[in-house]
Amino acid sequence: MPTETNLPAGRENYRSYARTWLAAHLPKHMLADSLDYRSPTLEESRQWEAAMYKAGLAGMTWPNAYGGHGLSLREHLAVNKEIGALSMPESVSSIGKELAGPIIMTVGTEAQKQAFLPAILNMENYWCQGFSEPDAGSDLARLRTRAIPQGDSWCINGQKIWTSGAAKAHYCLLLTRTGTVADKHRGMLMFAVPMNTPGIRVVPIKSIDGKESFAEVFFDNVLVPDDARLGAPDEGWSAAVRVLSIERATNRMYRPWRFESELGFLVRACQSDAQLARLMEDGHYQRRIGQVIGEIDGLKGLVERTVSQLIKGDEIGAQGSLTKLYWSECHQAFAGLAQSIVSQVTPASSPLAQRAQQSFTQAYLFSRAETIYAGTSEVQLDLIAQRILRLPRE
Ligand SMILES: Cc1cc2nc3c(=O)[nH]c(=O)nc-3n(C[C@H](O)[C@H](O)[C@H](O)COP(=O)(O)OP(=O)(O)OC[C@H]3O[C@@H](n4cnc5c(N)ncnc54)[C@H](O)[C@@H]3O)c2cc1C
Repeated sequence: MPTETNLPAGRENYRSYARTWLAAHLPKHMLADSLDYRSPTLEESRQWEAAMYKAGLAGMTWPNAYGGHGLSLREHLAVNKEIGALSMPESVSSIGKELAGPIIMTVGTEAQKQAFLPAILNMENYWCQGFSEPDAGSDLARLRTRAIPQGDSWCINGQKIWTSGAAKAHYCLLLTRTGTVADKHRGMLMFAVPMNTPGIRVVPIKSIDGKESFAEVFFDNVLVPDDARLGAPDEGWSAAVRVLSIERATNRMYRPWRFESELGFLVRACQSDAQLARLMEDGHYQRRIGQVIGEIDGLKGLVERTVSQLIKGDEIGAQGSLTKLYWSECHQAFAGLAQSIVSQVTPASSPLAQRAQQSFTQAYLFSRAETIYAGTSEVQLDLIAQRILRLPRE
């Protein structure tokens, strides 16, 4: 449980509290726009996120009974605005905090909630999400990883792919099927599988940015007890759909504020180098940057609207697809623009511009994945066409 409990109530207070706390505690070397920047180790990230939680800046909406702060999405958004305003690293435990946690709260037993939820918040365990398979990505109903009852346990065989954070995860939020592929959405079952269970093999995959942040995960006669099951045997698909809608609509709410901070960094870095500063006077770049500012504003509006709707108790359904499509396309275009500007001068004359060259190269390379993970842009367009615009299916 958090110890710094003199936390202010109210949206504006909470936001200024978060701003002050982050400014006082965030190690400077974690800021991507700082000349002191260096990539934090896993242990440094763990300690930092545990400190944020202790200070009341994580688990805002989770019930007190499970280690949360029992606040509303308003406070969550207020904190996210301040997190976004700083170029701090992405959470190493976002799958636990933003996907596994909410789904355990919805379909988990009381024992599972007590066992998993506080440990996610205080960074005792990290999670990965085992949904995609070599032949089942956009169409998850084709997944083949089988779970067969064996006495009081389940025996799991199959393969997952693109599993982010698998090499460091303690648990996998695993989607399996209990019947055959012909059953499509029926007979799916979700598990919380400890990654150190015998029979699990993790093979890292190197991505275009040189990192090995995702992996193939093989399950070879993996035996898990029945209490690793999340929800009833036929509830797997509805639980998975809930996970995906959370992933699209409410996770990493800080994005537009983060994009705004990246834009500020781009401008500062260009102003620090005479040649880049001249490039920024070009009308073409000024128009493109103006467009990015407009898109960031639009995205802020979408996030604020989603929060208001959720607080009112409205279902947001396919609107999550609109947010996912919008942020990923907007950020991919911005990262491409930033990279095309800063890479025109080599070497840049100022240390800040050199830092920006490194940072925007990473951002550009990773942004290629943004229109793929959490559902591709084509899939989001399909969902928007069918569920928001009610257009006929082909
Ligand atoms: C960085 C990154 C991290 C990831 N992390 C995870 C993770 O932690 N856990 C996990 O389970 N998965 C993860 N994924 C996998 C991701 O969810 C899938 O890559 C994604 O769902 C697409 O599936 P696919 O790769 O099989 O492509 P496919 O589904 O084979 O799609 C190939 C192409 O066909 C298009 N397409 C497919 N269906 C349609 C359709 N109906 N209409 C129009 N076009 C269509 C797609 O848009 C795409 O362009 C990650 C992916 C990336 C890139």
